[in-house]
Amino acid sequence: MLLTPLEARKLISFCIDERCAMLAVNVDNPSVIHDCFKAAKEMDAPIIIETSRWQLEGISFGAGDPIRGIAVCIAQINIFADSKEFREIPVLYHTDHINGPDALNILSTAVKGIPFTIDGKTVHLTPSSICVDASRLSMEENTMRTNALIETSKKHDQPLTLEMEAGIDTGYTAPEVVKKLVTEVEQKHPGYLYLFAPGLGNRHGYSLEGYPDFRPENIEKSAALLKNLTGRNIGIALHGSSGLSETQLREAVRHGLTKVNWSTNNIILRSSAAREYYSVYGEKMDPKYPGFKKMATDNGVGQYVSSKFIPAVRNLITVLNSAGKAGKFVKTLL
Ligand SMILES: [Zn+2]
Repeated sequence: MLLTPLEARKLISFCIDERCAMLAVNVDNPSVIHDCFKAAKEMDAPIIIETSRWQLEGISFGAGDPIRGIAVCIAQINIFADSKEFREIPVLYHTDHINGPDALNILSTAVKGIPFTIDGKTVHLTPSSICVDASRLSMEENTMRTNALIETSKKHDQPLTLEMEAGIDTGYTAPEVVKKLVTEVEQKHPGYLYLFAPGLGNRHGYSLEGYPDFRPENIEKSAALLKNLTGRNIGIALHGSSGLSETQLREAVRHGLTKVNWSTNNIILRSSAAREYYSVYGEKMDPKYPGFKKMATDNGVGQYVSSKFIPAVRNLITVLNSAGKAGKFVKTLL
């Protein structure tokens, strides 16, 4: 099931209580969406599917138009989420890094819901949760955009669940920065923030040396501060998990981590598997070989990449302690 913004809040709170983290997989084509559903189903785990601007503009989704990309992505996720096979799996669709001068317009359109008409009926496609990409914004711009999205949601009577991020790549985010960001939003519009992504000593992208400055205990401190500022539990989101070891991730979950964005390593894994596939089967992509059509199309490379990717997703779900939590969460909705 694809969760609405209000159900997304419940899942975040559930994960905080259960001391587990949701894996948030960045997807750039429909087969990644399928693989996420498959792994989540096999592990009975909730999962987050998320997209950044470059993925939404990619040829598999929006083909240059990020708003169309969001719509295509939500439609695709919805069809899978609504199918008998995957109906029991709680899935959140989240907008990750959407930057640029038109970012606010893209996100506001998503908050209002992107209209899609079929058979004379119009539905509005909206993400489960939204993040303002603050990587190139001042604190003022960050809170201004966040508040603008909340005002759009109020004006159009559309629920909204937000993740707010601080400067992720510049070390541990100082408590006074968290306080300033959250207070600016919470005082004007209480009750919309449910996730917060502070800098924790790691970075986006990949690090050969790992992240020796990563301090899981800072997660607990950030969560306590956020509870103090808002009066409710706010989940901590980790951007830049790719240089962290499994031990660091397990430790982080024990300290209250709630959402783990997984992008760089997943891209490396998928592209390496595709490269391996073509190096092994490339010669057979010739009509003189029987079965070349299967081998030369998505049925060949897609299946091969899935067979390498799904076990890695399953493993991360275990590391994040979210295996077995899907059914338990669904029962809380009844
Ligand atoms: Zn990020």
